[in-house]
Amino acid sequence: TPPSQLSTQEIQALDSAHFIHPFTDHGDLATRGARVITRSEGVYVWDSEGVKLFDAMSGLWCVNVGYGRKELAEAAYQQMMTLPFYNSFFQTTNVPAVKLATKLAALAPKVGDRSFQHVFFSSSGSESNDSNVRMVRRYWDLLGQPDRKVIIGRLNAYHGSTMAGASLGGMSAMHAQGDLPIPNITHIGQPYYFDDGLAGESADEFGLRTAGWLEEKILELGADKVAAFIAEPIQGAGGVIIPPASYWPEIQRIVDKYGILLISDEVICAFGRLGHWFAYEKFGYKPDLVTFAKAVTSGYIPLGGVMVGNRVAKVLIEKGGEFNHGYTYSGHPVACAVALANIEIMETEQLPQRVRGEMGDYFGKRYAELNDHPLVGVAESCGFVAGLVLVKNKHTKERFVEDDAVGMICRGHCFSNGLIMRAVGDRMIIAPPLTLTHAEIDELMRLIRLCLDLTQQELHQKGL
Ligand code: PLP
Repeated sequence: TPPSQLSTQEIQALDSAHFIHPFTDHGDLATRGARVITRSEGVYVWDSEGVKLFDAMSGLWCVNVGYGRKELAEAAYQQMMTLPFYNSFFQTTNVPAVKLATKLAALAPKVGDRSFQHVFFSSSGSESNDSNVRMVRRYWDLLGQPDRKVIIGRLNAYHGSTMAGASLGGMSAMHAQGDLPIPNITHIGQPYYFDDGLAGESADEFGLRTAGWLEEKILELGADKVAAFIAEPIQGAGGVIIPPASYWPEIQRIVDKYGILLISDEVICAFGRLGHWFAYEKFGYKPDLVTFAKAVTSGYIPLGGVMVGNRVAKVLIEKGGEFNHGYTYSGHPVACAVALANIEIMETEQLPQRVRGEMGDYFGKRYAELNDHPLVGVAESCGFVAGLVLVKNKHTKERFVEDDAVGMICRGHCFSNGLIMRAVGDRMIIAPPLTLTHAEIDELMRLIRLCLDLTQQELHQKGL
């Protein structure tokens, strides 16, 4: 029997018997079975039982142009028929990779003395961040400062799942498995105002104070030991933690003062999500390295990479000789062809402009209305990414305890009512496709409100 003709139960049984899923408790998978997603169109996906779901997470923060774009399938098909693969090692190259690198260099805005003329390709965000560690270390070695090894990240950050990616990230559950972080990676706290703002402290004061943790850490380690600071513009998988306006300028001041490299991990935030091709432009800081993946192809095919700023590129290329680093799929012609077609859609439909213009305003205004819900501590968005915190008492900010599993309760109601919204502890987060119409934004907000109401009812029934 072809797999498509298997029943849902048969697929689930095979799935549980053979497929090790990322970030999944396989005990749960064996008892409840995975939801089998079979097809998609626009902002919707369908499961094997025919249930239609509004995908407010764009898959996994990737499908920025929405599902069902035939141009992307056509680009992949044409490239596969012409040159399905060739490597870019040992002085060979391919046309889609050259065109994409050129295009990305043209799209990356110049900020201050920083421009991005060079791109290194990988197949994912995790690999790209591993490459960042290698490039940063190589940079300082070539400059004769090999003791500058430490990379500072942030707690609750997500930078991927490889040994270096998971180490740069600040997820304690990941560190607990596999003896992480690897040496010479350390962390400072995140700027989560709702959680950690002091009584009477304004958001901007909080932003300055929390950025100051970077300076404290640099001084504790000794500036001559610090290689780089890595951060997401907005902490994504950590629960959509949007920093106060004062945060990034202060981070820039500190990295400049101590001469350390700045890595902007834009795996979620680039390609229009915040209304710009690259998110550093939104916040006005000057990274040396910019990690990208996901929406560079809208997730239709794996591709990632690093935009290498002039300061680093100059040293790696002019002083470097051969850099013993790279992947079989660095500059994969099919992935690069799909990325070019994806960027063309984004340009034609002006998706970044849409998000930073009227559509983004409408989305932000409608999302902010959720602040009146009794269960919502605060609901905030930036571009087309948004998060809210579920609270027991709106006025005292009293929180639910972990065992209440309030996020999972809410997520359950979302699934039952045709909405994919992600739970991160007691935070509910979304990152919908950038193509949303007014009617789809209205539908999304209606669904979120409905699911919040149902969550509140269930919590009441449970006496929570
Ligand atoms: N960096 C950030 C900010 C991410 O959000 C992710 C994935 O969600 C990654 C890196 C890892 O990317 P990948 O899963 O493609 O390896």
